[in-house]
Amino acid sequence: MPRRRLARLILRSGSLLVAVLALWPALPWEESPRFAIGASPLVAVSAGIATRSLGLAAGLGVFFTLICCLRRRWFCRYVCPTGLLLDGVANMGPGWTRFWAAWPDIGRSLALLTLAGALVGYPLFLWLDPLALLAGPFAAPGSSGFLSGLLAGLLMGILITLTFLFGTAWCTRLCPLGGFQDLIGGIAQNIPTPARPHARRRFLTAVTTAVGGVALALWGRRAGIARVEAAPLRPPGAITEDRFTGVCIRCGNCANACPPRIIHPDRGGAGIPGLLAPSLRFVNGAYCQPDCAICTQVCPSGALQPLSLPQKRRYIIGEALVDTNYCLTTLGIKDCDACVVTCPFEAVQLHWDEEMYVSYPVVEVMKCNGCGACEAACPTLEVKAISIWPLLPGPGMDKGLIPSARFLPELS
Ligand code: SF4
Ligand code: SF4
Repeated sequence: MPRRRLARLILRSGSLLVAVLALWPALPWEESPRFAIGASPLVAVSAGIATRSLGLAAGLGVFFTLICCLRRRWFCRYVCPTGLLLDGVANMGPGWTRFWAAWPDIGRSLALLTLAGALVGYPLFLWLDPLALLAGPFAAPGSSGFLSGLLAGLLMGILITLTFLFGTAWCTRLCPLGGFQDLIGGIAQNIPTPARPHARRRFLTAVTTAVGGVALALWGRRAGIARVEAAPLRPPGAITEDRFTGVCIRCGNCANACPPRIIHPDRGGAGIPGLLAPSLRFVNGAYCQPDCAICTQVCPSGALQPLSLPQKRRYIIGEALVDTNYCLTTLGIKDCDACVVTCPFEAVQLHWDEEMYVSYPVVEVMKCNGCGACEAACPTLEVKAISIWPLLPGPGMDKGLIPSARFLPELS
């Protein structure tokens, strides 16, 4: 084997090993899953533009981007762990390549649409980044429920099947990360000059695609605003719903890191744009732990903004609402104070109503951050008498990535 090929193989194998250990996660550093995906140039640049922020993990991706500007497809050749895995799968399959050999470079168009969408806060196809796809199956084994596990690994499963059947179609024609590297690696050749008149058509096509990307992304955000009342509960630190479904790359890092396993892939409750995005469910007594903020620390795209523990405790996940039609105490079925004793913030009290001559739980909104402990503890079966609902739009609720109205005031 030529020395250069051997060096590439060693580097990519090392990269695959590090990615697997980080995503498992088997490394002692708990934020490592964020770096495993943030190293993708497409994720770093598009998410950075969409959220107007750049973290340490994205810095690695930007560094790789600069190298790819000088050496075309450098990331594919020397780093991409998904590419190495898919090369192995392609070698095992029948390799039906004839029908896609004449396809145009779809990956390049996907990358351009994503970058253009990022400019208006909605990077359209970032969820197709190969590192995000690689991460999905790692969230599957710990999922509570077969369906959640299946959904977590679904996209990577489809990609492996396609590669087995059709060989390297993904890497050469479809991958948006590959397309992104082609774009930045050949940027000088794509700008029309008198010496390169043939580049004009390519340039105009790129501009038209970019305009289409902006229009599609604006439509995506408007659809997000329209469905905000029907959206599921998102994990702590989630940016506003109209951007969330675009910026979240469905990597499953948050679900995999969550100790009580309350983060599940959405099955379409928020429509097609929200499919497989993380949502919260307080089942089997599990709720969001007051001493945990790990999901916000491992998100590589900024869909969940990093929160310190004190910030996370004040972040309002949702609103606890009581339905007295189901409360066992109010109905006089049994003396129950499960929500009162379970609330870690002492935000729920039983109130005795002299006029109605009944007791019912009352939630003190200035203390409640919607952690779900009350919902998880409520013993009613089909409908919980106390449950957490997404915050409705209100004054200041659309300002910034996380509106300041989403934080409880500091209590003295
Ligand atoms: S902060 Fe809450 S939702 Fe996030 S990982 Fe911890 S327990 Fe899970
Ligand atoms: S919100 Fe969860 S699934 Fe979405 S990008 Fe962040 S870590 Fe990945």
